[in-house]
Amino acid sequence: MMNSIAETLGKTRPFYQETGKEAAVFTHAFQNQIPVLLKGPTGTGKSRFVEYMAAVLGRPLITVSCHEETSSTDLIGRYIVKGAETVWIDGPLTTAVKTGAILYLDEMAEARPDVIVAIHPLTDHRRELYIDKLGETVSAGSDFMLVASFNPGYQRGYKELKPSTRQRFAGISFHYPDADTEKNILIRETGVDADVAARLVKIGGKIRHLRELGLAETASTRLLVDAARLIRSGLPKRLSVRTAIIEPLTDDDETIAALCDVADLMI
Ligand code: ADP
Repeated sequence: MMNSIAETLGKTRPFYQETGKEAAVFTHAFQNQIPVLLKGPTGTGKSRFVEYMAAVLGRPLITVSCHEETSSTDLIGRYIVKGAETVWIDGPLTTAVKTGAILYLDEMAEARPDVIVAIHPLTDHRRELYIDKLGETVSAGSDFMLVASFNPGYQRGYKELKPSTRQRFAGISFHYPDADTEKNILIRETGVDADVAARLVKIGGKIRHLRELGLAETASTRLLVDAARLIRSGLPKRLSVRTAIIEPLTDDDETIAALCDVADLMI
């Protein structure tokens, strides 16, 4: 599987609606060279927040979406054969350390354990990266920052992070926003009208409380944003809700029907 790596350089500041003091916390962590762990369920704005903070702090952002095959080699770099030559290619972590970027390890717990080993010396007073294949050590400047995300969804078989790793990061918790904040996010993100936004937020809130359906994940802000986009582009409201909010949550026909019954009355 290819690693998905995204680099944003000097991008304009994306819209991010603060829900607490997270921007101040992040800024102080950056200034004090403390790595940060963003904790919370999927779709609660963690990635958007990092993009926003990179733009606020004027640093490039390199994002690596970790999966079970992501290895330290993927992050640090490797030799590749180019014609008759073998050349060294820096991986995203090495690039970030050398250029003073923010490196965002999305879903860090999913990566292979050697990734954790590789980042350890970067997360303490040493702030250095050891490139074993080159026998080199690279020191991180004051602009380099390590950020990771973690979904504490114990019930779903998510991987855990060891306490010894977690203690190397300051933590910020992400939750679903309150109704007014979430409504504002939908309006700002999609241009949907206030009444529809309020209804979508209510549907989201309702589904989040339906614990008896045993959904593995629940209706995140991301799903509500997607529904608002479909409605805004002219798809009928009920179909938009079903497509963007309900279908992604379950494959069970009865549960889909039950959720549609609930949502149809609210939209
Ligand atoms: P995560 O990284 O937590 O899975 P994302 O950052 O990808 O979540 O958020 C998913 C989508 O939800 C974003 O693309 C954005 O449209 C919306 N969103 C969620 N929270 C916020 C927020 N606080 N401000 C702005 N947009 C948000």
